[in-house]
Amino acid sequence: MAYDPGGGGAQAPGGEFQSPALEQLVRRLQQLPGLGRKSATRIALHFLNDREGAGDLTEAVAHALANVTQCTRCGAITEADPCAICTSATREATVLCVVASPVDILPFEKAAFFRGRYFVLGGLLSPLDGVRAADLPFERLMSRIDEDGVSEVILALDTSVEGETTALYLQRILGERDLQLSRLATGIPVGGALAYTDEATLQQAFQHRTGF
Ligand SMILES: [Zn+2]
Repeated sequence: MAYDPGGGGAQAPGGEFQSPALEQLVRRLQQLPGLGRKSATRIALHFLNDREGAGDLTEAVAHALANVTQCTRCGAITEADPCAICTSATREATVLCVVASPVDILPFEKAAFFRGRYFVLGGLLSPLDGVRAADLPFERLMSRIDEDGVSEVILALDTSVEGETTALYLQRILGERDLQLSRLATGIPVGGALAYTDEATLQQAFQHRTGF
């Protein structure tokens, strides 16, 4: 039989399921980002109807957890460490693009115009949220710059307050080094996530990058 979540627009039932196992699954799904009780219930019932699909999903999660790691050199999400970009002979080691999150690398790689390498900060400075310079890998960035003889650093950070704060901080700590420091031109939406910027906009912002 099919487990019917009820009419499309129906409210999620207020009570709990008779099955403690199902109730536990719904509660666990509810902890995922962006899922309320109603969506969690719909997904749980979908799993009961599609047992093979549910098995594939749990297998995919386990496989990803067992194989995915972050590159210790650049912070990209990868299965090989160091990652393919860090070890590629055709990528310029002396040009480094600094991004906030590993997903910010994706639009660059999709657009395929950038031939340097990356460094992922893993966050942005945000004094209000308690993210201070000591919490981000600036020292590792400096070592990377020294080790690879980096001559050009491009900041590809969001134009949010946090992105601006981080760019100014990097300008301060990199300013005295003998390297070219630039940032993407405006064109990246204000407060918008870089990862969702389209290729044409990104390439234009890159080509018109400005020095400090
Ligand atoms: Zn890497």
